[in-house]
Amino acid sequence: MIEEKTKGFLIVVSGPSGAGKDSICNKVAEDLKNVEISISMTSREPRKGEEEGKNYYYISKEEFEDKIKNDEFLEYAVVHNNQYYGTPKKEIEEKLNQGISIILVIDIQGALKVKEIAPEAIFIFIMPPSMEVLKERLLARGTESNEKVLERFKRAYQEINEFKKYNYVIVNDNLSDSINSMKAILLAEKSRVDRIEDIYLNTSEEFIHEGLIDKEFDNPEFKFDD
Ligand code: 5GP
Repeated sequence: MIEEKTKGFLIVVSGPSGAGKDSICNKVAEDLKNVEISISMTSREPRKGEEEGKNYYYISKEEFEDKIKNDEFLEYAVVHNNQYYGTPKKEIEEKLNQGISIILVIDIQGALKVKEIAPEAIFIFIMPPSMEVLKERLLARGTESNEKVLERFKRAYQEINEFKKYNYVIVNDNLSDSINSMKAILLAEKSRVDRIEDIYLNTSEEFIHEGLIDKEFDNPEFKFDD
């Protein structure tokens, strides 16, 4: 059997609030093997229905600032509501080494920081199907005041112009199509030669006896060092 050893990779997903990032990413992580979502830390209050350790880890501003000092974040940013959001570094590297790919659902500032640290990451931008639909989705959430919703909407307008900094764009018109698009991207990326560390051919002794391969070619390890 031919086996390949692939290191996990980072998948950075951004897009305006209400574009559907979480619904898409949750289903992709549920369906694909060796793909997990990183849970961010935030200093903002939990919204109705959100859960500690599921949506975010909720900590105070002071705790967040201590963690910044201790270099515990892969990246962090102050997002639209003047609150901190950050990706905890611990575990991510470990998981990548175990061949697990990690999805980071983060804002554009965070994505650009990750691009500096990990240019091999893949960057996916999720668009709403239209600005009208986005406004409807934000209002329909009913978890925030109208004023906050309008702030998010204005920010979304600015953010959409940044899509060219990403590798892929998914227009989330239909949730199941968007999920399939993201899965297709991840599966293709996983097969890229430059993501494969080793290939083990595990050839059988018989091949040597039959003179089909050299002894020294027994159990070869092809290293893709560049
Ligand atoms: P929300 O308050 O709607 O949950 O998130 C607000 C914004 O913060 C979203 O654009 C979301 O992608 C972003 N965000 C969530 N977690 C992180 C993080 O760990 N780092 C950064 N830079 N942005 C994040």
